[in-house]
Amino acid sequence: MIRNIMKDETFLSQKAEPATPDELPIAQDLLDTLIAHKGGCVGMAANMIGVSKRIIAFDNEGKYMVMFNPEIIKKSQPYETEEGCLSLTGTRKARRWQSIKVQYQNERFQTRFKTFTGWTAQIIQHEIDHCEGIII
Ligand SMILES: [Zn+2]
Repeated sequence: MIRNIMKDETFLSQKAEPATPDELPIAQDLLDTLIAHKGGCVGMAANMIGVSKRIIAFDNEGKYMVMFNPEIIKKSQPYETEEGCLSLTGTRKARRWQSIKVQYQNERFQTRFKTFTGWTAQIIQHEIDHCEGIII
């Protein structure tokens, strides 16, 4: 189900709660909403659809990927960039890392580790920031 985009910065500033298998339908809504906005959006966190749980969905080089409870456990090569966000207007400066290793749970709630670089890594960092209540 496509949901409305949350733009309330007070809500978006709250740290999201850990996700459980109860939230699998939310992950589907998140994907549906992300796909509905694919023209201008490459990733979303659940709080952007008004659900304060640690779930992100993003475009992983042309294939959508969902992560539950993602955490960056290793990062290297910082750089400065500018980003936009569907929940905000305009762009803002952000500091990102070229390479990140992420620990997360998949749709079966199995723990997985994966390293991402470049653009995909940047998207994931932006979405994990949302889970922390950090808006660019
Ligand atoms: Zn955003």
